[in-house]
Amino acid sequence: MNDCLFCKIIAGDIPSKKVYEDELCFAFYDISPMAPMHFLVVPKLHLASCAEITADNAAVVGHIFAVIAKLAKELDFADGYRVVTNCGELAGQTVKHLHFHVLSGKQLGSFD
Ligand code: 5GP
Ligand code: ZN
Repeated sequence: MNDCLFCKIIAGDIPSKKVYEDELCFAFYDISPMAPMHFLVVPKLHLASCAEITADNAAVVGHIFAVIAKLAKELDFADGYRVVTNCGELAGQTVKHLHFHVLSGKQLGSFD
């Protein structure tokens, strides 16, 4: 997608601090971290949000969760972490490319 911030990050047109990459997904540290460990995992396929997940493309979501579990062990935060995706403006979504926040490194509070 031409004007999508995260597509530009995936393409390397906008710099980011990369955590992980494979053929299906890209992970990079959030520019405005809400926890000591806070990175985003995005599918390389542009989907505007989790509302665009269908039976045809859902496999990438399972893949992303497997990648997160692997990174949790490798980056040593497997003792506790949160995976969040905001879907739509009412939920606080600001970037319209499906992304999973991975947060760890402190006691996380409750949320709405
Ligand atoms: P959302 O609010 O859509 O769930 O999450 C978007 C996230 O993207 C926010 O946590 C925000 O800090 C992060 N973000 C926005 N622009 C950039 C950027 O240019 N680079 C990086 N690394 N993160 C960004
Ligand atoms: Zn995109």
